[in-house]
Amino acid sequence: MDYITVDVFENTGIVKTICTRKSSLASEGSWKYGEQGAQENYEELGKLFGISPTDIVRARQVHSAEVRIVTKAENGGDGILREADEYDGLITNEKDLLLCTLEADCVPVFLLDPVRKVIGMVHSGWKGTAQKISVQAVQLMKENFGSNPKDILAAMGPCICENCYEVSDDLIDPFLENYSKRELARFFRKSPVREDKYFLDLAEAIRIALKKEGVKEDNISAPEYCTFHAGIFPSYRKEKDMAGRMLTGIMLTE
Ligand SMILES: [Zn+2]
Repeated sequence: MDYITVDVFENTGIVKTICTRKSSLASEGSWKYGEQGAQENYEELGKLFGISPTDIVRARQVHSAEVRIVTKAENGGDGILREADEYDGLITNEKDLLLCTLEADCVPVFLLDPVRKVIGMVHSGWKGTAQKISVQAVQLMKENFGSNPKDILAAMGPCICENCYEVSDDLIDPFLENYSKRELARFFRKSPVREDKYFLDLAEAIRIALKKEGVKEDNISAPEYCTFHAGIFPSYRKEKDMAGRMLTGIMLTE
């Protein structure tokens, strides 16, 4: 399996992470449940993390701002990979339970509270980012596990960058529901050449939202790769319906 890890998280010694890269293998990149090769891929993923595939939980994403707490008892153990319904974010404080989301340009947001030992995996496309799904996750970590936002580490995995993500102006209103105009000006940049077009910086919007929630700026890591222009991760914008998906995952090991 071809992948990168989130090093700032791995360095804590209490989690393992993964972001799968594109690969020439036919079944690789196919993570969609029921698709050819998907089951084999999840089995290989389980081996890589030293767990049974029954302890892999994947969000069944619907571009919502819904985050759910998952447990082995509830979400593992039925003999196959179990998907969490209608959620775009997963949280747990249990060891050896791998939380996964899929992306192709959307932002995977990894969360870790090393003090309370709580992790989160969030899929944040423009809809989820407009609705501040990462903040929902942090709030759940606070309410259910006593996490202090000051302790929380956040990292954004490969996603489309601010120079590649051109959007139309009708995306502005959904963001204005949760961000001020001043904040918006920091992540919507008017296209210099195309009328009514903007460049949207999803990572900056997420950073602003997390900081406002009390996560320290120094604890928020920016994406290292753009899925659109780097060419080594799936990009929906670039590959359209041919695009595979990047699987992103996090698991507590200690
Ligand atoms: Zn780019």
